[in-house]
Amino acid sequence: MDNICKNYEKCPIYNETLKEMPSTASYYKKHFCEAGDEGCKKCKRYLVKDKAGKCPERLLPNDSREVDTIIKEHNL
Ligand code: SF4
Repeated sequence: MDNICKNYEKCPIYNETLKEMPSTASYYKKHFCEAGDEGCKKCKRYLVKDKAGKCPERLLPNDSREVDTIIKEHNL
C-alpha cells in the first residue's frame, strides 16, 4: 500500500500492542499509519524514530509531548 507508514512492519502499535483494543488500533491506523505522509508526520512514534533513530516501545502516536521532550525524557 502506498499510503502506509514505512515503519509499520516493526511497529508494535501497528502490529500487536492494541490487539485487546481493536477500536483504538483501528483509530490509530486510520488517522496515522494508513493516512499517507500527512498521517505519519502527525505520529509521535514516527517523528521520534525519525529524529532519534529509535522509539520507546509503548509510546502512543498521539502522545501530547513535544518530540524533543520525549527524546530527552527517554534518554534516546
Ligand atoms: S504511523 Fe506511527 S504508529 Fe503507525 S506504523 Fe507508523 S510509527 Fe507506527
